[in-house]
Amino acid sequence: MKVVKIKEDNCVYCHLCEVACIVEHSQSKDIIKAFKREERPIARCSVEFNYPVSLSVMCRHCDDAPCMEACQNGSMHRDERGYVVVNPDTCVGCWMCIMACPYGVIKRDTRREVWGLSTKCDLCPDREIPACVEACPNEALTFEEL
Ligand code: SF4
Ligand code: SF4
Ligand code: SF4
Repeated sequence: MKVVKIKEDNCVYCHLCEVACIVEHSQSKDIIKAFKREERPIARCSVEFNYPVSLSVMCRHCDDAPCMEACQNGSMHRDERGYVVVNPDTCVGCWMCIMACPYGVIKRDTRREVWGLSTKCDLCPDREIPACVEACPNEALTFEEL
């Protein structure tokens, strides 16, 4: 199974990974519309910075995923590709998964319709190469076998 690997020495704190993630999860997948005309989705990666170190943090798709165990109704589940994803149709926004994740990578959705529901990296199911990996100008993110 391939995952996103992080090379913090290459990260230049440009936030392009976050931009690409937002566009990929937008209604139109168009950068202008995603940022200026539609309700903007949340970035599922977050760039952390503590000079001189920076890195983009996202779900590790753990083998033994504490978020899945904490979820009371199976909304946090493993999909057919083997990645841990959340089903927004059944998530009730109890945030148990947020409390259970040791990496702090599950966020609360801020869009009106789904406000407060858990959201996280879904490893870009519509793409061969995740959007954040493709957008990173410096190979700080790569998509590789575990
Ligand atoms: S796009 Fe790459 S270099 Fe830029 S902040 Fe994200 S991980 Fe770092
Ligand atoms: S959300 Fe957290 S606990 Fe769940 S698979 Fe990702 S990194 Fe692991
Ligand atoms: S793999 Fe896709 S969903 Fe996950 S952080 Fe990167 S762009 Fe966002």
